[in-house]
Amino acid sequence: MNGSAKKSVEIQCESCGAKMTVEADLRTAICPYCGSPSVIERPPSEDRPQPEFALAFEVDKKRAEKLVKDWIASRGMFSRSDFKKNARIEDVKGVYLPAYLYNAVARADYSASIGEEYQETEYYTDSDGKRQSRTVTKTEWRRLSGRYATYVADIVVTASKGIENSELERVEPFDMRMLRRYDSALLSGWIAEEPSLGPEECLQMAHDETMEQLGKDLGNFMPGDSYRSLEFDAKVTDEITNLALVPLWVFVARYAEDRPPVRILLNGQTGKAGGDVPLSWLKITLAVAAVIGAIIFAWIRWGS
Ligand SMILES: [Zn+2]
Repeated sequence: MNGSAKKSVEIQCESCGAKMTVEADLRTAICPYCGSPSVIERPPSEDRPQPEFALAFEVDKKRAEKLVKDWIASRGMFSRSDFKKNARIEDVKGVYLPAYLYNAVARADYSASIGEEYQETEYYTDSDGKRQSRTVTKTEWRRLSGRYATYVADIVVTASKGIENSELERVEPFDMRMLRRYDSALLSGWIAEEPSLGPEECLQMAHDETMEQLGKDLGNFMPGDSYRSLEFDAKVTDEITNLALVPLWVFVARYAEDRPPVRILLNGQTGKAGGDVPLSWLKITLAVAAVIGAIIFAWIRWGS
């Protein structure tokens, strides 16, 4: 830390366990992750892992609030109507979230059935006893197996217990072209969280995401008109992991006194919002009933 940097304090949430570093004048009494008021100051930790890279905030607070309001207003037909109508932002904080960046080479031995479509003329006798013809599309299946290799780049996984990986995925991707070397000056004016997940746990999440990505890539790679029974056995090599800080706006919104608040994240670089909107089970039940009703109706008519 250089002479011009402001004094920073280390704080910890006793409720969710998040450990954060903030400038003394930004000290918060409310946890930005879980909204708990049990934030305590703690002595600085010596063995804190240093981030290697960081992405800077590009979206300021005013714009973040506007984007989140737009996002709330545009929620789908199954969200609770009182959420869209009454949701008000109770708290908003800009946080540098610790995350692991992951790159690797993935190789897969795969097998699948590849479908090739072809046209055939079929002859049949109609109800008047006349001979007719029609063109039908048929699919011929053949087995295909081989080896596929891909470079999986820029997978981002959370290193925070406070923000789950699935939650972070909703506001991804980040633009990695803007990645820079970590410099503590970047944190000026922001809360920075320390990693609370170990590298092993994060590596496992990165593996899972790699396999998911590989499955999608393989699907796109399959020749033919369609495919089925795709199976693959993959190996990952040349793994590189780097600890980085990524910018997040964390919103706490409340829509009813008797309901838990809703956490909404906004990508501090791209402005993409995401979160768990409370759903209306009544609306979902009615929609499902309507679909079942339509199926039964069609079935009765078809059957008669
Ligand atoms: Zn907390």
